[in-house]
Amino acid sequence: MKPINFSNTATAFEAKTDGDLRRSYLLFKTINYPTLVKLGTSFINVALKLRLPIKNIIKATLFKQFCGGESIEDSQKTIEDLYRFKIGTILDYSVEGESNESDFDATYEETLRTITKARGNKAIPFCVFKPTGVASIELLTKVSEGKALTEEETAAFERVKQRFDGLCKAAHEAGQPIFVDAEDSWYQDAIDDLVYAMMVKYNQDQPIVYNTFQMYRKYMLDRLMKGHQFAQEHGVQFGAKLVRGAYMEKEAERAAELGYENPINPTKEATDQMYDDALRYCMEHNATVGLASCSHNEDSAHLLMELMNRYGIAKGNKRVFFAQLLGMSDHLSYNLARADYNVAKYVPYGPVEKVMPYLFRRAEENTSVAGQSSRELMLVNQELKRRRAQR
Ligand SMILES: Cc1cc2nc3c(=O)[nH]c(=O)nc-3n(C[C@H](O)[C@H](O)[C@H](O)COP(=O)(O)OP(=O)(O)OC[C@H]3O[C@@H](n4cnc5c(N)ncnc54)[C@H](O)[C@@H]3O)c2cc1C
Repeated sequence: MKPINFSNTATAFEAKTDGDLRRSYLLFKTINYPTLVKLGTSFINVALKLRLPIKNIIKATLFKQFCGGESIEDSQKTIEDLYRFKIGTILDYSVEGESNESDFDATYEETLRTITKARGNKAIPFCVFKPTGVASIELLTKVSEGKALTEEETAAFERVKQRFDGLCKAAHEAGQPIFVDAEDSWYQDAIDDLVYAMMVKYNQDQPIVYNTFQMYRKYMLDRLMKGHQFAQEHGVQFGAKLVRGAYMEKEAERAAELGYENPINPTKEATDQMYDDALRYCMEHNATVGLASCSHNEDSAHLLMELMNRYGIAKGNKRVFFAQLLGMSDHLSYNLARADYNVAKYVPYGPVEKVMPYLFRRAEENTSVAGQSSRELMLVNQELKRRRAQR
């Protein structure tokens, strides 16, 4: 097996014009400064609340880098652009933390539209939804804590179950795998129960419903293995979407505030180790596990390729996908796709105001760590320099 050279930025950015790269450079350079991101986040939040005319600025910068558009139709060009390079799209209606029933229903309906769009469409290998787009955080938390629900809450939770079932059923009928994203740890237990019930119902022949495992959480490998055992006991396939996890600061803050143990691994190394052990586990059980490795980490990508090779798993095996986010880690996506691995990218879309929490997380993820430039900034800069040197 020939290792892929991920520093090949020519392949990584072959779809990008010089203008695209300069715009990305400017953006990553700006969000490289943590203080600027913190100030910018507060400013944007206030400006949107006051209805100041900043939507166009956001659309031309953060939104353009990380989102496909405001609607499915708007995202069509991105879907086609990615598919020209054999990269699939995961249409992600990026609305989360909704608070009332009509918003939950609207998110549900929109997610159904993404499933219809994906049906029989080779360019869209997965669908996805965020639990807090279709269920209230307070309710999920109460269920996770095992507290008694009022009559009204019981009825609301029934509607949540119906929304989960409606989405997974539609995905099953479309023969289209669907991811259930993971958010904060304190209401994940309720989500796990809902997702496992869906796996039992819809994963009889193939992994249709995928649960998300945030490997930055302590004991997550055990939970992954228990999930797989549960699927085995019920004679169904297991869908595992692995991520490291995107809410580390929030988790630490809440744990400190309420005085319980921080659920996040003590070090980055511990998270890396757990992520890689999870990859090993999934590959070892490839016959009954569908895996989506959702990461921008090169070492994990190398490890997964090595494991596929070791277990004789073909690159095109639909049970193994590499996935990244739009606007990030093109050096992985484009190089892996060129080497014939299955690759997909989340293409978030939605009204600008609604996708802001997602965009803030991306800005934060791309600020500098210990004064170093972020990975994306270095890659874009490297490619701009390479192009200049060629002229
Ligand atoms: C397709 C896709 C889907 C995603 N879906 C979800 C989702 O459903 N839920 C979700 O939470 N995130 C999701 N993410 C976001 C994902 O969690 C982050 O992009 C990811 O954590 C970045 O890490 P990495 O694997 O790219 O590797 P790296 O950049 O090597 O790792 C960074 C990550 O390591 C962990 N980490 C960093 N420092 C420490 C520390 N001191 N101690 C412990 N751990 C540490 C954190 O998770 C941090 O984000 C998704 C990402 C992709 C690509």
